[in-house]
Amino acid sequence: MRDLKNIAGDDDARLIPIWSIVIAIAAFVGVEYYFWMVLPDQRHHPGPPLGFRIYFNLSWGLLASLYFLMVGYVSKDAPRRSMSARFWMLICFVMPGGIGAVLYFLLRQPLVSRCPACSTFVQSDFHFCPQCNYQLIPSCGNCFRSVRATDQFCTRCGHELAADHMPARLRVIGD
Ligand SMILES: [Zn+2]
Ligand SMILES: [Zn+2]
Repeated sequence: MRDLKNIAGDDDARLIPIWSIVIAIAAFVGVEYYFWMVLPDQRHHPGPPLGFRIYFNLSWGLLASLYFLMVGYVSKDAPRRSMSARFWMLICFVMPGGIGAVLYFLLRQPLVSRCPACSTFVQSDFHFCPQCNYQLIPSCGNCFRSVRATDQFCTRCGHELAADHMPARLRVIGD
């Protein structure tokens, strides 16, 4: 499901698009309308107690709107992970009971961005660019685990970070 063409610089930080919020509100209103207006007209015996009906009706309304918010979220989140948004929106929409959304969270790929030096697509957990060796995340020169840029010593192995070569990332800034 990798679709690298879709990642073209989409800087929109909103992860839930407007259209899915609008549909979610419409779905909530629609479900409430059905339960409060349409359904009572059809049955002739008195329904369950009012408190239970309020809880029951609101729950179904919220569930319906959550469904569309989820599809909207997937439409924004999948491209950031070079996964096909259309394919996963369809899966989330078609699978009953939110199984599609669960599948999506189990199978989704790490976030993808571009190497600042050579624009190769890199995953968020890469320490170095696979094409140009640009250092993407500060890491210990001894055990190669992630460190913070301000740390003096590695928190895992105690290695003195100042003794490492200056990372390529900092060299580029210093020039
Ligand atoms: Zn690179
Ligand atoms: Zn270390």
